[in-house]
Amino acid sequence: MSQLTSDITADLEMGAGSAADRLTDKLAEPAGTVAEPPRWDVSRVEALLDLPFSDLIHRAQLVHRQYHDANAVQLSTLISVKTGGCPEDCGYCPQAARYHTSVENQDMLSLDEVVTTAAAAKAQGASRFCMGAAWRGPKQRDIEKMVEMVSAVKALGLETCATLGMLKSGQAEQLRQAGLDYYNHNLDTAPEFYDEIITTRNYEDRLDTLEKVRSAGIHVCCGGIVGMGETRHARAGLIGQLANLDPYPESVPINHLVQVEGTPLHGTAALDPLEFVRTIAAARITMPKAMVRLSAGRQEMSDAVQALCFLAGANSIFYGDKLLTTGNPEAERDKALFHKLGLRSI
Ligand code: SF4
Repeated sequence: MSQLTSDITADLEMGAGSAADRLTDKLAEPAGTVAEPPRWDVSRVEALLDLPFSDLIHRAQLVHRQYHDANAVQLSTLISVKTGGCPEDCGYCPQAARYHTSVENQDMLSLDEVVTTAAAAKAQGASRFCMGAAWRGPKQRDIEKMVEMVSAVKALGLETCATLGMLKSGQAEQLRQAGLDYYNHNLDTAPEFYDEIITTRNYEDRLDTLEKVRSAGIHVCCGGIVGMGETRHARAGLIGQLANLDPYPESVPINHLVQVEGTPLHGTAALDPLEFVRTIAAARITMPKAMVRLSAGRQEMSDAVQALCFLAGANSIFYGDKLLTTGNPEAERDKALFHKLGLRSI
């Protein structure tokens, strides 16, 4: 156990009262006066991930209960408004044109189709509606269609979110004016592991779009994927990158790789589910106010693992039968799970 890890454990043993504050002080870098150090450097996130499991979960619960209702989970629905044929080469994605998968290309949905789906999602209890499109980035004519969709979904009383790829100057502002509340743009993994997964863009491209989204006044939804063969150190690197965004994202989806036949990552060694839970806990601790979203991969998780994720601080899920192109637990299974765990949807 590292010195930092044993210090943290000792603090936890002293009691829960102000442990959250003491640990935040110990784990977070103090603001420097010369060069601003990152608030969470990788070694500090890694020290969290290295904690004994019970201590990590206890710490995550302290933070979670300080900022959130521990028994409330947000339901979001995600639809693909344009599927497949993407020119990018994300190694996990069945929508990349270059991989031979069972995903069929689908042109952009009509405004009516999107509004009907959004209304049905609202009737099922969703409070946020996310629209995803498989583009490197939207063209101006795509943005014009998205503007119509966003304002129509917003008019239904739903929070709106879109994930459309990299944005050019002015596009985020158009989406904001249409009523877009959140823009999703994931960092996917740690910088040093990024080019193992994607070569058609780089980390700076991602950060650039995130900056455009922030500048336009749109909330940021940004997370990553674990289980892609990365090390624990790389998982710490991803969480550190997210936590050090200034400000950190309001919404942090943590995805578990769904291995799809035909993609390069199909056949990757499976990640221990407890490592996934640890990653959720680290996201909760380092980004206390964010909605931490249990996203892709939930269909393959047992109820017990999902319960541990909620215990670790996840407080948002995607709800519905499909997640863009991969499966998601049916609504009925989720209702039964919420009932068993005494969770309320928000
Ligand atoms: S993840 Fe997005 S950008 Fe990457 S290949 Fe899939 S649709 Fe394209």
